[in-house]
Amino acid sequence: MSGRFRIRWSIWLLVLLAGVSASPLGARRPYVVLEEFCAIGERVPGTAGHREARDYIIRNLENPQIDSFYARGVTFYNILKRFPGEHTIGIAAHWDSDIGCPGANDGGSGVALLLSLADTLEKNPAERGIDIIFFDGEDVGKADRIGSQHFAEQCRDEYSFIVVIDMVGDKDLQIFQEGYSVRSFPLLVDSLWEIAMQAAPSAFIPAVRYFIIDDHVSLITNGIRAVNVIDFDYPYWDTRDDTIDKCSEESLHKVYAFLLALVYGDRS
Ligand SMILES: [Zn+2]
Repeated sequence: MSGRFRIRWSIWLLVLLAGVSASPLGARRPYVVLEEFCAIGERVPGTAGHREARDYIIRNLENPQIDSFYARGVTFYNILKRFPGEHTIGIAAHWDSDIGCPGANDGGSGVALLLSLADTLEKNPAERGIDIIFFDGEDVGKADRIGSQHFAEQCRDEYSFIVVIDMVGDKDLQIFQEGYSVRSFPLLVDSLWEIAMQAAPSAFIPAVRYFIIDDHVSLITNGIRAVNVIDFDYPYWDTRDDTIDKCSEESLHKVYAFLLALVYGDRS
């Protein structure tokens, strides 16, 4: 990691440390976005909540690309916000929720961070290319990952890598490395955790705890370098108690600090 990198992202981190109540880089705070997004309720594909959540994401992005496709009797929507540049990385999350689960942390936390990050990048352009990707249909069936499969099959791999974030709003935030990511790209995972542990020292742990089927698996099996960032120790996972009161603004800001370090940091 270069000295230039340390200085640059330290500036962003100082802005963040001004307080979680501040608006980092003048953009919308992730927790405020999460509150609005959770007010919609469940986002099961084919339902009114799904359409409302889709419209919420679209109207909070400037000129997004929408890829709609039909599968299993339902229309799905992958939403992409592109910030063009070299050495493009992807930051991804799924936006749907499972049947009977409000999905505040599972799905919602990632959406809140991605929309805040998009707002930040509009106001403070990064040097490298950034694609912000909202996958639909992850929670259909037993993590069938319909949107990310569709994306990966069509994708001309132009990414340095894609980071898939999910379930990162837990009050007790502990983000271990994920097994399939480490098995496929051990050096990439280590370098990402090095950045993350500087940005949010208490939240990221450089050891594997679980192997998790999430959208990164669709990407990896289609030849795309992808890493999952997830805190799977969450007792409310896949229950009707996955609500915003189980999430914390401080946790969201820790992961936000990591994302800011990633997008504004060195290209190495
Ligand atoms: Zn999820």
